[in-house]
Amino acid sequence: MKRVIFAGAGHATLIALDRLARMKHGAKIILVSDGPSTHYSGMVPGWIEGIYAGGAMSIPLASFCDARGIRLVDARIEGADDGCLSTTAGKLPFDHLVLNLGAVAWRDAALANSHVVPAKPFDSLIAGLQTRANASAFAIVGAGPAGLETAFALRARHPATGVTVIERGNEILSAFARRFAKRVADRLAAADISVLTGAEVAGVDAETVELADGRRIFSGCTLAFTGAAPPPVLASMPFARAADGFVAVDGHMRSLSHPNVLAVGDVATAEADPRPKAGVFSVRSGKPLADAVAALADGRTPPPLVLQRRGLVLLSTGGRRAIGVRNGLVAEGRWVWRLKDHFDRSFVDRFAGPPRR
Ligand SMILES: Cc1cc2nc3c(=O)[nH]c(=O)nc-3n(C[C@H](O)[C@H](O)[C@H](O)COP(=O)(O)OP(=O)(O)OC[C@H]3O[C@@H](n4cnc5c(N)ncnc54)[C@H](O)[C@@H]3O)c2cc1C
Repeated sequence: MKRVIFAGAGHATLIALDRLARMKHGAKIILVSDGPSTHYSGMVPGWIEGIYAGGAMSIPLASFCDARGIRLVDARIEGADDGCLSTTAGKLPFDHLVLNLGAVAWRDAALANSHVVPAKPFDSLIAGLQTRANASAFAIVGAGPAGLETAFALRARHPATGVTVIERGNEILSAFARRFAKRVADRLAAADISVLTGAEVAGVDAETVELADGRRIFSGCTLAFTGAAPPPVLASMPFARAADGFVAVDGHMRSLSHPNVLAVGDVATAEADPRPKAGVFSVRSGKPLADAVAALADGRTPPPLVLQRRGLVLLSTGGRRAIGVRNGLVAEGRWVWRLKDHFDRSFVDRFAGPPRR
C-alpha cells in the first residue's frame, strides 16, 4: 500500500476522499487538518447574514473520516520535505502528498495589522467578525464577488450600520461581464452601501481606514477581501513555486519539482493554463484528484486535469435574493438565491453521511 497524505481539508479533498472510499485503490490515506471541521466558502456570507447557523456551513471531519475509513490527524501543518510532512502532532512519512491548503488574504503593509480581519483563513474571519459584531461601521477592502457578498450580508444583518467597500481599481467586479457588474452596482446603491473605487488603503486602526489621498473612513471592523496569497507554510516546503508564489503544478496536478506531490485548489497554480482562485475550481478538481491518487498508488500516470474556464456565478445580495451570471446572461431574484442555497446545502450534506453511491 502507498502512504498518501492529504494536507488540508479543502473542497477538492472532501470530494476526492468521498470518491476514493468507493473505489478500489492501493492507497493508505491520512487526512491532516487543523481543527475539528472545515468550512464551505459558498455559505460563509449566509452565515454572516444570520441565515445559516455555524454548523450548517461546516463539515465535521471526524465523522466524515470515520465513515470513509480514513485516519484523521487533527494538527497544524508546519512544513514538509521530500518524503515527510511536519505537523504539530509529529512527522508523518508519505509516498504521495496532496496539498489542498487554500490561500490566505493578500495583505500589504497597510493591511497587515491586528485591526484588519482577513477573509481567509475562514477561522480568522469568523473569529474576527464575532469579536467585532457590534462595530459602529464596517469597511470591506476589495470589490470582488466575495467582498461584495459580505458587504450585502453585513448590510442585511446590521441595517442601521454604515457599510463601505473600498476598491483600488476603477470599477467593481472587473473580471466579470459588464452587465453583471452594473446590476450588482445598482443593488449596492439601493442597499445604501458606499463604494469607493480608485481608493488605496494607507493605514487602518481600530476606528478608521485612512486612504492614500488623505480621506478617512469610519470603521470599527475592517475586512480584507483583497484576493488570494500563498499560505505562509509553503515557505517551509521544498516544492517549486509559480511566479504568484503558489505551488507550481503541471496539467496533471503534479508539483513541477516533486512529481509524487499533487496540489489542487487555491494553493496550486498551473502557469500554462491558470484559473482564478475560486472555490468552484477546487470543487471541480475533486473527482480528477481521486482518479489521480488512485493512479499514483497503482504506479500509473495521473490523468490530466481539465477544468472549464467559466461557470455559473451566483452572488447573494442579502434578504435571500441573488444575482447570477453565465455566459454574459444575468438573472436576479429570490429563485436565484434558492438555487444557490440548494447547491450550497447539497455540497455540505453529501459529506454528512456515508459515501454517496
Ligand atoms: C466569504 C467568502 C466567500 C466565498 N464564496 C465563494 C463562492 O461562492 N464561490 C467560489 O468559487 N469561491 C468562493 N470563495 C473563494 C473560496 O473560498 C476559495 O477559492 C476556496 O475556499 C478554495 O478552496 P480550496 O479547496 O483551495 O481550500 P480551502 O477551502 O481554503 O481549504 C483549505 C483547508 O486547509 C486547511 N489548512 C490550511 N493551512 C493549514 C495548515 N497549515 N495545517 C492544517 N490545515 C491547514 C484549512 O483549515 C482548510 O480546511 C469565497 C471566499 C470567501 C472569503
